[in-house]
Amino acid sequence: MSSNLLDRFGRTISFRLNLWYALIFTLSACALAGVLYLLLSVTIEWKDKEVIEAKLKEFSTVYEAGGLSLLQNQLGGAMTSGRQKPFYVRWVTPRRSLVLSVPADWIEFTPGDPKNPEMLAPRAFIRVPKDEQKDFTLTSALLFDGSLLQVGRSTNSREAVLQPFRKVFVAVMTPILLLGFLAGAFLSHRAMKPVREIVRTARSIIDTGKLDARVPVRQSNDELDELAQLFNRMLDKNQALIRGMRESLDNVAHDLRTPLTRLRGTAEAALRAGTDAESTQEALADCVEESDRVLTMLQTLMDVAEAEAGTMRLVPQRVNVGSLLNEVIELYEYVAEEKQITVTPDFHEPCTAVVDPARLRQVFANLLDNAIKYTPAGGEVRIQAQTETGNLVVRFRDNGMGIPLAEQGRIWERLYRGDKSRSQRGLGLGLSLVRAIVQAHGGRVTVVSEPEKGAEFTVLLPVNGAESAVAKITSAPAR
Ligand code: ADP
Repeated sequence: MSSNLLDRFGRTISFRLNLWYALIFTLSACALAGVLYLLLSVTIEWKDKEVIEAKLKEFSTVYEAGGLSLLQNQLGGAMTSGRQKPFYVRWVTPRRSLVLSVPADWIEFTPGDPKNPEMLAPRAFIRVPKDEQKDFTLTSALLFDGSLLQVGRSTNSREAVLQPFRKVFVAVMTPILLLGFLAGAFLSHRAMKPVREIVRTARSIIDTGKLDARVPVRQSNDELDELAQLFNRMLDKNQALIRGMRESLDNVAHDLRTPLTRLRGTAEAALRAGTDAESTQEALADCVEESDRVLTMLQTLMDVAEAEAGTMRLVPQRVNVGSLLNEVIELYEYVAEEKQITVTPDFHEPCTAVVDPARLRQVFANLLDNAIKYTPAGGEVRIQAQTETGNLVVRFRDNGMGIPLAEQGRIWERLYRGDKSRSQRGLGLGLSLVRAIVQAHGGRVTVVSEPEKGAEFTVLLPVNGAESAVAKITSAPAR
């Protein structure tokens, strides 16, 4: 493995996770072993002390019963019976010190200088190290006549307890740790596979520019699987958005080219015709008309961007919505007539609402434009308007091509165009602008449609909705 590869491996999450896991495992195991060792050595020490204390009590009782001679006898008897002397026994007065019994492995030391109060303190335990394996433990008791009796024996040293413990610990922990590390490395490497797949897919998209690469999904339903699925969905959305943007850019270019070509042609023709004032006037009027068309298109694009950014400013006033609808119908009279479509207004009562008339005109114009555009010759568009429980409800119903169910949720998206609608002029911006304006008024717009039978768009606006909506956006920057 080259050093570069090793370096990369060392920086992987699975390696670092595993290293942390091994470190924490080792520390926990050491802490546990430490506690166990402490418990063990304290228990052994406590047992040793208990035995020595019992002997001290026994010898004190003998001394109290028969004095030094009886104690000497008893200890001497134990010696002559050939048994090993397990205890060190010393009798101490301020003027005399007499060792009554010494075990064979006892070392040369003076267990208690009569001047050393700590060594002679009754009931205090003294531990004197002998070698790696053995210690001597010793305690004393004050006798009834003021003399001091010391009893001691050789005990296992801490090291003697620790050594086998350490050996077993190392022998058991080393393979466990190694196995744990290897198994952990394998498992974490496997667990991180979806993340590596995501990285590989992202890299391939960046390197090749091909947006159709996707992360393989394992169907394991865990978090990483969900991440892979979400990543794929995000790629789907991005791809659709980029495709839509490319298409709309083509559409914008196409839709701009026609009026601009006409504009140029008219200006060129007027230039060639010389100084005839009348034809120059006519050409200029045509140029203004075409420029207006271009400006309208650009304005729509900007309106949608503004509405989607939430910075659309409304200028509300009480408006007769019936009159507003009539104005729009009049505007489209010629287009409808040309396509032999009957536009039927179905509203009588004066419907008034507090709205921005210029913006609401845009909403009605877009909905009527679509209804005429997507209804074949001979069709009918019916427009209803009425007030229902504090809301203004306006319906545009046509008997045209309708909208497939799968598209009904998407038609509100910016730049979205229905599959069958591409033969018609349009930018896919109309309905997103409609929705943005209606929402800015605090209302909503919905569609009900059956393919080949027609579509019905319903705009629902609170009669006084624009007032509160305006209050909400007054802090937005001015247009
Ligand atoms: P455009 O009309 O420029 O394509 P819109 O945003 O106005 O964009 O509409 C989006 C899509 O909704 C249209 O492409 C069309 O497929 C569908 N649509 C809108 N209104 C109607 C309607 N009245 N009948 C059928 N389809 C419609």
